[in-house]
Amino acid sequence: MTTTPPPGSAGPRTPAAVLERVFGYDSFRGEQQEIIEHVVAGGDAVVLMPTGGGKSLCYQIPAIVREGTGVVVSPLIALMQDQVDALSALGVRAAFLNSTQGAEERRAVEAAFLAGELDLLYLAPERLAVESTAALLDRGRVSLFAIDEAHCVSQWGHDFRPDYLALSVLADRWPGVPRIALTATATEATHREITERLRLGSARHFVASFDRPNIQYRIEPKNEPIRQLLHLIRTEHAGDAGIVYCLSRASVEKTALALVEAGVAALPYHAGLDARTRASHQARFLREDGIVMVATIAFGMGIDKPDVRFVAHLDLPKSVEGYYQETGRAGRDGLPSTAWLAYGLQDVVQQRQLLDRSEGDAAFKRRASAHLDAMLALCETIECRRAQLLAYFGQASQPCGNCDTCLEPPESWDGTVAAQKLLSTIVRLWRERHQRFGAGHVIDILLGKRTPRVAQHGHDGLATFGIGTELTEGEWRGVVRQLLAQGLLAVAADGYGTLVLTDSSASVLSGSRVVRLRRDAVRAPRRSRAARVAALGDLPRDAQEVFERLRSWRAGVAREQGVPAYVVFADATLRGIAATRPSSPAELATVSGVGERKLEAYGADVLAIVATSAAASAPAEGAAASAEGAVDSVR
Ligand code: ADP
Ligand code: ZN
Repeated sequence: MTTTPPPGSAGPRTPAAVLERVFGYDSFRGEQQEIIEHVVAGGDAVVLMPTGGGKSLCYQIPAIVREGTGVVVSPLIALMQDQVDALSALGVRAAFLNSTQGAEERRAVEAAFLAGELDLLYLAPERLAVESTAALLDRGRVSLFAIDEAHCVSQWGHDFRPDYLALSVLADRWPGVPRIALTATATEATHREITERLRLGSARHFVASFDRPNIQYRIEPKNEPIRQLLHLIRTEHAGDAGIVYCLSRASVEKTALALVEAGVAALPYHAGLDARTRASHQARFLREDGIVMVATIAFGMGIDKPDVRFVAHLDLPKSVEGYYQETGRAGRDGLPSTAWLAYGLQDVVQQRQLLDRSEGDAAFKRRASAHLDAMLALCETIECRRAQLLAYFGQASQPCGNCDTCLEPPESWDGTVAAQKLLSTIVRLWRERHQRFGAGHVIDILLGKRTPRVAQHGHDGLATFGIGTELTEGEWRGVVRQLLAQGLLAVAADGYGTLVLTDSSASVLSGSRVVRLRRDAVRAPRRSRAARVAALGDLPRDAQEVFERLRSWRAGVAREQGVPAYVVFADATLRGIAATRPSSPAELATVSGVGERKLEAYGADVLAIVATSAAASAPAEGAAASAEGAVDSVR
């Protein structure tokens, strides 16, 4: 925190001027301008915008423009330092109050707030419930309240935080202060809960398109997950930063280890690691290039690293909302990225079991079960994945051309007879001795395998023994998985993964219902490395070299300052510089992402790198080496 004058104070403090001079951007995105003008004028707002859509500016610019301090309520204590660092690097006067601070630091922040020297103040929600904090805010001047990650107030959603419920007091205690609630979760249920619980009934609502066109969605059957994941990384994302989500701590550890052994720079992250290790892994992920974070869903909310190139799920997410939020962490910078999920029969069985064993009441289980069904429907769809995702958020769209089902439309087949064979085997097992068996055993019977268990129970004598040899074991698993997803089969709540019939099964057995199944792709479509480079390679070759030089210069600066690389400059900005090769500060200032403060701090370095690269880009190999030397000398 500093005592510098307000950012962009040299000229008029209009939203457009702040956008350009402080943030270095020349135009607003989507509805940013309307939202900002509405809040600047004192209005309340509810903003639903996908990850990477540009929510932060929607409250940061009004906070800078309006008199007083914008108070940002955020659950992400661990990220407040980075957020404040990023703002300080732009010359914005920002600070936070949270439990990680000592008394002295806290007093300094409070004093700055009271003196009117802060544009933005970040607070954890539990702080606001403390009377002394509220009293502090009363004594200073609050320009607005921004409630970030507002879906945390919703019990329908997946990140419910009881502390958020207390935020309903904001309206009573500070009636004249505009409030803006923001989230990347867009289901109607969540939207309604945010509006009600935060008492934003008379706010203006801004609902952006939730499409993330640069993310390619792919879901494939899970056979050997780690081998499949390695294939994805090696063929399409070598050296890229990515996040791999696993359900359990054990699988996080196992997967991270396997990746490291395969030469991938991977780190584990889960709630079982001590706080220090978690913080250091998170910091490395943010600060270093090309780290793969293997994590439980404890990781990622609020991580605004812009250049995460892929998000992989090795286990089935519990809900479409969760899946969309997690995959949304890829490609915030708008460059091509991959969301990849491997999913298998075992996932369905396991999720159902977890659900049955969970402590929630009946209503909770119904809700969780509805979430899971929607997720399964997405996995098994033969339609465009993106269209289905957007439909889930109430937004209609056309097939996208950038998901696996669009790129390689899956075949469907008439699975009625197969389903009948499977269901009637289950009926027979049930009738016989009221003994129940899981998918593996049922499939063994269909394939006519005399396993010890089959022999022990005399199941080789069943009428359905060996009647299913037209399909492979893998194909049968696909059938079971899809019948589960379609509600034609269920997993009993007995903890053994026993398959049982549902109310709808009878219509299949009687032949009155046709079952369409999707043929599992043997290989999901994969963009080759060359294709990906082409997608990214709108930079000519020599510009790519400038880009790489700028990147290594940036790594050095970030290390020196102890901040993430993107706090210095985003990839998109470095690409802009490399493509346009500015030769004067005025030219550099026109590149998107170069504002006043950064021009002042880094302009000379950047121009020197561009100049030496330009000189070197002529012929020989020795030139590159001397340009490297020049880069060192300008630092
Ligand atoms: P969100 O919080 O919605 O996930 P951010 O606020 O982090 O998204 O913005 C995503 C990225 O887009 C950031 O790198 C941000 O600087 C950039 N950005 C936001 N608004 C604009 C704009 N108007 N022009 C250019 N870049 C922008
Ligand atoms: Zn599609």
